[in-house]
Formats: sequence, structure tokens, C-alpha cells
Amino acid sequence: MAESEPADADEPLNPESILVAVDALQPADDGDLSLTDSFRSAWDEEIADVKATADREDEIRAVIGIEDSDVSFESHNEAYKILVDGNLVGLLESEAALYADLAAARLLMDRYEAWDDLSIADRSRLLKGLRLFLETCPDCGNDVTFDTEEVESCCGSYPVAAVDCGECGSRLFESAPLEQ
Ligand SMILES: [Zn+2]
Repeated sequence: MAESEPADADEPLNPESILVAVDALQPADDGDLSLTDSFRSAWDEEIADVKATADREDEIRAVIGIEDSDVSFESHNEAYKILVDGNLVGLLESEAALYADLAAARLLMDRYEAWDDLSIADRSRLLKGLRLFLETCPDCGNDVTFDTEEVESCCGSYPVAAVDCGECGSRLFESAPLEQ
């Protein structure tokens, strides 16, 4: 198990340096990051397990650190919402992204000793940061593609970086609007 420094409350969380420290990501020769072999296979296994057996509501409670609250999901307009007692607590790109996050949370709880001290926002930042490096779709298992594209909003369109599955159409990662 990798050593990792506890999160410093004064510093904004740097997902990539934490994910490297816990041996989930590794720098390639060209400086780009990619999943380590061991994390990729552990993540794939957990994703399969989450899809097949997990009580998603219970897993969400574990990630958020709550016990008795009512967890529900809403899916529309290419957004996947997580509600706790009717309040929006998480907004994901797709149900496939939820599988990836629940599976990765199981691994990070184990591998990152400061996990328990992180805010929910920082936990989801870590999980989303990791999703950028997904290589196959948690829903259908096909390869995913990384690209930039225009997203329409009420006030025009803006470019984002996105990871998509070309097979089932699941969006697995969408960045904040990129600088134009
Ligand atoms: Zn897919």
C-alpha cells in the first residue's frame, strides 16, 4: 500500500498528485498520466462487482458518509442526479459514470488514508479526476474516446473536454468549459 500525505486543509486538493501517490496513476515517458496496471485491473473488477451486486443506495451512503438518509437517483437530459432526502448532492455525466465512481471509491477508501478526512466535494473531485483516465466503458465494456466538443447551453455553446463511449453513448467525463 502506497504512503500518502494527509490532505492539507489550506491547500486546494490536487487530484492528480494524490492519484499518483496512491499508485492509481503513473506518468508515462511523455509526461502524460495513465492508469497503473494494478489499479486498472482492480477498478475493472470492482466495476463489474458494483454492476452485478451492489446496493447502489448503500454504496452512495458509504461514499458520502451518511447512514439513514433516503438516497435516490434521477436521470434526464444526459445528466444523472444523486439525491439525498430529496436534495441534490451529486450530478454525474451518466449511470456508467456512477458505476466508475462507486467502484473507484471502494479502492480509494482502502488506498488513501486521508479519504475519511476529505469533504464530499473533494471526494467527488478525486473520483471525477480519475474518470478522465477510464479506458473502457463501465456500462458496455467498449473503448472510450477523449475529445473536445461544443456543448449547447441556454446562453450559447462552449467547448469542453469529454470522454465518451461511442458504442452505448454514455458520457463518462465532461470538463468545466474550456478557455476560448
Ligand atoms: Zn458504453
